[in-house]
Amino acid sequence: MSSKRALIVVDMQNDFMPGGPLGVTGGDEIIPVINRLARRFENVVLTQDWHCPGHTSFASSHAGQDVFDTFDAFYGPQVLWPDHCVMGSKGAEFHPQLDIPHAGLILRKGYHRDVDSYSAFLEADRKTRTGLDGWLASRGITEIVVCGVATDFCVGWTACDARHFNLSVAMVDEASRGIDLEGSLDRAHRNMDIAGVDIVTISQLVD
Ligand SMILES: [Zn+2]
Repeated sequence: MSSKRALIVVDMQNDFMPGGPLGVTGGDEIIPVINRLARRFENVVLTQDWHCPGHTSFASSHAGQDVFDTFDAFYGPQVLWPDHCVMGSKGAEFHPQLDIPHAGLILRKGYHRDVDSYSAFLEADRKTRTGLDGWLASRGITEIVVCGVATDFCVGWTACDARHFNLSVAMVDEASRGIDLEGSLDRAHRNMDIAGVDIVTISQLVD
């Protein structure tokens, strides 16, 4: 596949797999699909949700709040999640069957205590860059293909934000799985459509 193109594999970590504290249904089913897809790319980025203990996105960090409540953070509404992907923990590790040894970059996000980061490009304050845009630009990469979990949060936000950086973006639906929290999957598809993200099947990807 073109060297101007990169595959971004989002958050394929133990805690997001079925049985994990924030397990995404079918998250493990897409591992072989992603492994095969990644072999077609010279440039692969793996993102890793990577929170400090007591992170603001954890319901346990806010007295009186429950999991899936929305908290009014300084940057806007923040869904509160079960504790997940604590830096250095087993749950934060990639699923052991993820097999992409040629990935050139592991991009960690969400490690600032008071700001979440669904997106691999911009933290939830919508200002702080992760640096991914610069990494891609310095390699002359102009097109990205996004997959992983969860379609309606980290995958969708990453895909939409990539458009802000003038990248051409395709999201591979069959290599992604969503959580679908109160209509969030439909909303994510709509937002990706508005942002100009192509939602594609693997057979539509041209080498
Ligand atoms: Zn997280």
